[in-house]
Amino acid sequence: MSAIPANLQAVRQALEQAARRAGRQPGELTLLAVSKTKPAGDVLEAALAGQRDFGENYVQEGVEKILALKQLLPADHAPLVWHFIGPLQSNKTRPVAEHFDWVHSIDRLKVAQRLSEQRPEHLPPLQVCVQVNVSGEASKSGCAPDQVEALCRAVAALPRLCLRGLMTIPAPADDLETQRLPLGQLRQLLTALQAGGLALDTLSMGMSHDLEAAVLEGSTLVRVGTAIFGARNTP
Ligand SMILES: *Cc1c(COP(=O)(O)O)cnc(C)c1O
Repeated sequence: MSAIPANLQAVRQALEQAARRAGRQPGELTLLAVSKTKPAGDVLEAALAGQRDFGENYVQEGVEKILALKQLLPADHAPLVWHFIGPLQSNKTRPVAEHFDWVHSIDRLKVAQRLSEQRPEHLPPLQVCVQVNVSGEASKSGCAPDQVEALCRAVAALPRLCLRGLMTIPAPADDLETQRLPLGQLRQLLTALQAGGLALDTLSMGMSHDLEAAVLEGSTLVRVGTAIFGARNTP
């Protein structure tokens, strides 16, 4: 028997506990199950166990899974919500605009403009987050903190996108206090943008190893892969 339903339950319980410790309502948190490199059958199992939001990192793999799940799920099952969370090149935006509900990894205007132009009219606006490189690592994608406001204002003006907030992937750290630092910086950036008049409600932060730190720092959307689906094979 697969461990996915039990893993999901354990992650949901860990989130509830972290929320209680942080004095927050568990309902403020959305759990995104990151299914990259995992087969469609694993997504189906998680969906049948009640999981609704899924995250994918690679365009082709993600689109294939979205189409597969439409076939695999019973016709009366509530639709899944698909989030693109990987690096996105501007020449690969079209399938993302056509198949995903959310994109968390907007780090330059050109990609956002193309997504807006390519978002089909019959679909609701694409929900997006601007990815911020708060830890300042040269190798990581994400917009520099001092460019976030300008990028957010430009993205918020695009007609077929709905800017929801900020996302980050911090440098890995083992202890809670070190984990909290960059996550707190992202929260402060969001607060400053809200004070500047942008209507934002989403902080996409927290993965398998830093869930508690993320909940303590105000995350609204945690992205969990390994703790739900097990270790990944490299694609
Ligand atoms: C893979 C990935 C995750 C999930 O990471 P785990 O450590 O497996 O929980 C979350 N966010 C992004 C952007 C990822 O690429």
